[in-house]
Amino acid sequence: MTPRACPSCEGSRAAVFVEERRDHVGGVSYRLYRCSQCGLVYCDPRDPVGPEWYEKAAPRRAVETRSAPRRDARFAWFLGAGLPPGRLLDVGCGGGGFMTAASARGWTATGVDYEERMIALARAEGRDAYCQDFRAFLKGRSAKEFDAVVLFDVLEHDPEPRGLLAAIKPVLKRGGHIAVTLPNESRPAWFGREDFDYPPHHFTRWNVDALRSFLQREGFTVVDLRTVGPSVRWFSEVMFYGLIAPSAVRAARRALFGPQSEGTLTDLYAVASPAPPDAAPDGLKIYLADPARRQRAANIFKYACRVLTYPVAAVLALACRLRPRSGEYLYCLARYDA
Ligand SMILES: [Zn+2]
Repeated sequence: MTPRACPSCEGSRAAVFVEERRDHVGGVSYRLYRCSQCGLVYCDPRDPVGPEWYEKAAPRRAVETRSAPRRDARFAWFLGAGLPPGRLLDVGCGGGGFMTAASARGWTATGVDYEERMIALARAEGRDAYCQDFRAFLKGRSAKEFDAVVLFDVLEHDPEPRGLLAAIKPVLKRGGHIAVTLPNESRPAWFGREDFDYPPHHFTRWNVDALRSFLQREGFTVVDLRTVGPSVRWFSEVMFYGLIAPSAVRAARRALFGPQSEGTLTDLYAVASPAPPDAAPDGLKIYLADPARRQRAANIFKYACRVLTYPVAAVLALACRLRPRSGEYLYCLARYDA
């Protein structure tokens, strides 16, 4: 089966099949390919998913009352880049944490996001934020309105990245800047890839060369392109989720539901008949039937594991710093001269 052309370079050279992955939330099977011309990893099909998908994939997210972070390495990097403050657009602004940080540094910030709840948070903080589809929002703005557009962890979620840039370019001033951050495709994958890096959450994966050539083809001059990390914290997380958590979940499933049980704890609890509350041997099972308690127990377990994962992660992170371009993140600042 031949995949559709690369969404970055539309290269004619054959794409190389990487892997197939079925999304259990939507039931769609995705085939991932690496473009042999520009190096981008992309998937087929690339149909966007709506809020229902996210609702099913992470049901607790919708009830979280997390306020927007104001300190973030991405924010510090952009605000330290030496650009003179002007009008800024934050695409995928979430709760407006970056807008607040940028405003404090003299920028006039506007933001757009899909998540109504996050926009409500941003507005409550007095931010100029809108809940709308990105392309529709950009279409409604004035020509050359912004000095800078930031895409913090946005590009990899868009099924057609060229289309997104085509919508952004008209609102950028001549000589204005675009800032892009996303996970580095070339980061170490010894403990497997994080679930979030698969479609339909991420449709594309970028390395230094793929991102640079994409922005250049789109008429941008790359001013700064760096890999960041890998950090001890990141290594510790991927070790936990890739190595420790799957075994721990398996062990918990066997202990609570018996050796023949299959599926996630959430699924098993959903179909389990409620046990009488005085069933002493099942005390733990009853206690953990509450998803919030389960989450809390998982968090405590995770923090306990840090004693183990942090020293190993520190050694690995140090070793990786000797290898160029192995950071877990890419930060890129590019100027639009067209
Ligand atoms: Zn390509």
